[in-house]
This record gives sequence, C-alpha cells and structure tokens, in this order.
Amino acid sequence: MKLINLLKQDTLSLSFEVFPPKASSSFDSVKTATEEIAKLKPSFMSVTYGAGGGTSKYTLDIAKNIKELYGVSTLAHLTCVSSTKDTVEEMIHSMQEAGIENVMALRGDLTPEMESQDRSDWHYQHAIDLIRELKESGADFCIGGACYPEIHPESVNQKEDIKYLKEKVAAGCDFLTTQMFFDNNLLYNFLYKIREAGITVPVIPGIMPITNANQIERALKLSGSYVPQRFKSLVDKFGHDPAAMKQAGIAYATDQIIDLYANNITNVHVYSMNKPDVAEKIQANLSDILGKA
Ligand code: FAD
Repeated sequence: MKLINLLKQDTLSLSFEVFPPKASSSFDSVKTATEEIAKLKPSFMSVTYGAGGGTSKYTLDIAKNIKELYGVSTLAHLTCVSSTKDTVEEMIHSMQEAGIENVMALRGDLTPEMESQDRSDWHYQHAIDLIRELKESGADFCIGGACYPEIHPESVNQKEDIKYLKEKVAAGCDFLTTQMFFDNNLLYNFLYKIREAGITVPVIPGIMPITNANQIERALKLSGSYVPQRFKSLVDKFGHDPAAMKQAGIAYATDQIIDLYANNITNVHVYSMNKPDVAEKIQANLSDILGKA
C-alpha cells in the first residue's frame, strides 16, 4: 500500500522503525525484532539504510519480509551520498523487483573524510538529486523526504533550509518525516513556517523514545536536538537506574504523542530502534486513544 493513502485517516496511528544488521551474523536477531514489532500491526514500518550503503541488501530483504511475511506496509530508506549512478539505478531496479512501493529518499550523512573531500564531481550532491532519479526511472514509488524542525546542522539558517526543502518536495516528495525533537512546540513552529512557505505535503513527526542515559548523548550528537529542562531533569533523576530510565523515557515519548494528537496530528513515526518491548509499551499506553476518532 502506498503510504500517501495511509496518511489520510483522521485517527491516531503509529509507525515504527527498524535498522538493518551490520553483519549477517545478527540478521536473525533483527528479523525476530522486526517480526515482534510487525505483530503490533503499525500503520507501516520503515527500514533504514546503513551509512555508505554497505548493508543495502539487508534493508531490502527486511522491507520485503515486512510486507510479504507480516502483511505490514513498508518504507525502504535509500541514501545517495557518494553513490554512483549505476549503484543507485541497480538499487531502484532491485526495489521494484522486490515490490517495494514506498521509498524514503535521503542524501545520507557526510563522514569526516567526505567533508574534507572535493565533492563537486559527485553525481548526487543532495537528496533532491536522488528524488529526481527515482522520478525519472519511471518506477511508481511513493516518495518520502527528511525534514528538520530545528534546521539541518549544515544549514546556515531556517529560511535557507525551508527554501531547499520546498525544492525537494517540488521534485517529487509525497510526504516528509521529521528528525527527532523533544519539544513539540518546535514542531508546531516549523509546521507553521513550512505551510506559510507553501509546502503542503503531509509531515510525519518522528519521536525517539530515549530509554537509556547513554542513548541521549548519541542521539543528540547525531541530531543536534534541543533538550528541554523537563527532559534533562528526568535523565538526572533516573539515568543511573536502567529500568526506571526506560519507563520514564517511554512515558515522555507517549506524552509527546498524546500532545501531537491533541493538536490534530494523526500519524506519528516512532524511532523504535529494533526494540519491540519499547514499541509495545508505547502502543499499550495509547490503547484507548489509537484508532479512535
Ligand atoms: P538534503 O535534503 O540533501 O539536505 C542536506 C542539507 O543540504 C541541508 O542543510 C539542506 O538545507 C541542504 N540542501 C538541500 N538541497 C540543497 C541544494 N539543492 N543546494 C544546497 N543545499 C541544499 N541517514 C542514513 O544514512 N540512513 C537512513 O536510513 C536515514 N534515515 C533518515 C530518516 C529521517 C526521517 C531523517 C530526518 C534522517 C535520516 N538519515 C538517514 C540522516 C540523513 O541522511 C542526514 O540527516 C543527512 O545529513 C541529510 O539528509 P537529507 O536527505 O535531509 O539531505
């Protein structure tokens, strides 16, 4: 099912994310986690693309399983940074053969080596180049793009970030998914600005449940997200106690989702990070809210 059709409902629905294994030896554990999450019957499940594309086959295999074995709609991520045109064409072909209908088209993060390299002759400079390629391929994908309520770390300012986002959407994004954020007001403010700029596609907020104290450092380094005092206090109080931190992190994410729905946002993506228990607890916390008008 194309995600654009799933995003039209007016009741709250959750989608979950899994990431592929780094080595074949852990494929089975990722497969089990994926199956457990799929049993929760989310609106869809996304499968990330390993930086550099080294695990691209796993992304495809897992996305295919989600759809064929578990009957859940799937969104396969694809990055283009440093890829050749041939590699991308091959991936597009493999995705078509695997019956993938939804693709999250991303640039990918630049490694420190890439940052110091001359990138002027790279075929793909930005996600927009990949989106154009997907469109030109003639494959009938529903295409998603990434967006950043707190601006992308490389952007000079939000105005410029939104200008490029608008071009990216015009090139063929059917929907956008946001970077994680811990203060919903940042999202509401961002939505107001992009709507004002004329970006009208559905935006799916991405919520990251922080379930251990170490995770917050990693997550913040990657995303540069602002951490409200309310969240900092929670890490200070429970960070040393893994069980309590997990419960508090799940409660915080649940609270964010309830507030989003109270503000009429009906599709929320949970960065569930191959953790079925976290996905299950968030879903259980919302059992009397999910699917109800
Ligand atoms: P772009 O849209 O290309 O934007 C990157 C920067 O370039 C921004 O500052 C933007 O303003 C600027 N820009 C855009 N277009 C132009 C232009 N035409 N000219 C000049 N500047 C421009 N990474 C992975 O490796 N695998 C994944 O599976 C993955 N999934 C993700 C899912 C989501 C929802 C998000 C938010 C991020 C994900 N990432 C993933 C990380 C992502 O690859 C990085 O954030 C990356 O740095 C930017 O990707 P992008 O697609 O947003 O790039």
